[in-house]
Amino acid sequence: MAILDQLTSQEAMDLENKYGAHNYHPLPVVLNKGEGVYVWDVEGKKYYDFLSAYSAVNQGHCHPKIVGAMVNQAKTLTLTSRAFYNDILGKYEKMATAFFNYDKLLPMNTGAEAVETALKICRKWAYEVKGIKENEAQIIVCENNFHGRTTTIISFSNDPVARKNFGPYTAGFIKIEYDNLKALQDALENNNNVAGFLVEPIQGEAGVYVPSEGYLAKAKALCEKHNVLFIADEVQTGIARTGRLLATCGNCTCVDKNCSGTPEVKADVLILGKALSGGAYPVSAVLANDSIMNVIKPGNHGSTFGGNPIAAAVAIAALEVVKDEELADNAYKLGELFRSELGKFIETSTVVNAVRGKGLLNAILINDTEESDTAWNICMALRDNGLLAKPTHGNIIRFAPPLVINKEQLLDCVTIIIKTLKQFE
Ligand SMILES: *Cc1c(COP(=O)(O)O)cnc(C)c1O
Repeated sequence: MAILDQLTSQEAMDLENKYGAHNYHPLPVVLNKGEGVYVWDVEGKKYYDFLSAYSAVNQGHCHPKIVGAMVNQAKTLTLTSRAFYNDILGKYEKMATAFFNYDKLLPMNTGAEAVETALKICRKWAYEVKGIKENEAQIIVCENNFHGRTTTIISFSNDPVARKNFGPYTAGFIKIEYDNLKALQDALENNNNVAGFLVEPIQGEAGVYVPSEGYLAKAKALCEKHNVLFIADEVQTGIARTGRLLATCGNCTCVDKNCSGTPEVKADVLILGKALSGGAYPVSAVLANDSIMNVIKPGNHGSTFGGNPIAAAVAIAALEVVKDEELADNAYKLGELFRSELGKFIETSTVVNAVRGKGLLNAILINDTEESDTAWNICMALRDNGLLAKPTHGNIIRFAPPLVINKEQLLDCVTIIIKTLKQFE
């Protein structure tokens, strides 16, 4: 077998299995092409992508505008490091800060790096602005969070698979129940060492857990009262996925034509990743206003690739696509349609208990235990029927198609999903 020969699916899986670390358990399908809402396997079978690389591919696979920007920049200048200036990073920072309405942006590559960056900014702010005694700062996080895979981040995870035998863990985190204002209030009261509250506006990996109406706004108000930074991890929920530019936007986004002008919550520190590049390249960022971001001085933080010219060019294009193609509005409308169509089926279903979500970040809850393999088997059947999705937990299946999906395609997918679920009734 020559290295560039076309592999069969089985050959490709065997290679990964033999030569790759086993840190994932992929659905057995081997893809080699993507366009818009579709991906193709090496045997040429076409699928709807209902995962979108965990919401990185919001703009659709291989979006010509994003690929064009990437190729163009790749031919011109790829990497300078931040030892020197380049002529596109500043343009990107200007555009993105206007887009999300913050003073400054700190560019990184992956989501986990951006979360780490936000934690560092928060701690430094705590000592230099809030006046917490050195090494005493604490950051409140939520149970069942997912913020990435670094040693510090898994230190405050409560998923034993992600955490066990990776200790000793990073100190300085307080874990409270998600969607519980009383727990947040208790954690804030009588503790002057709290610097920040890190939260996902919807817990994606936990199974698309949408908090109660008003939770985020009230949590933000509590943080303000106690001079604590509200840090929103919108790596998965951001960039139009939930029907607004950001999930914290409530009914307002500046690029959303339904914008009403007042954000539900304006996070003090905003963390973005995934769809910031439309899935073309690892691009992440932390955004904050000057009073917070200015605690970071030369040498405090960095990344060789963070803010590289390709990343900047790709992110500009990716954000333009979100605006030009009104992806937030499309996600909002088609999300409503998706939940109402599936909702009708679920009324009489014995396999599915509920559908939940916002915009086009949705999940169905399978009527079986977490340990069962029903959800996995449903995903295998969905694959056979031409739609790719993956369980988040043993009994929850997330549905998150690219946001460029149109109504006809969405209804086609609803048909596939219902047909498949009927096989399990
Ligand atoms: C995916 C994700 C991350 C981590 O991003 P990586 O690019 O995989 O490091 C962090 N937070 C949330 C909410 C995510 O969904």
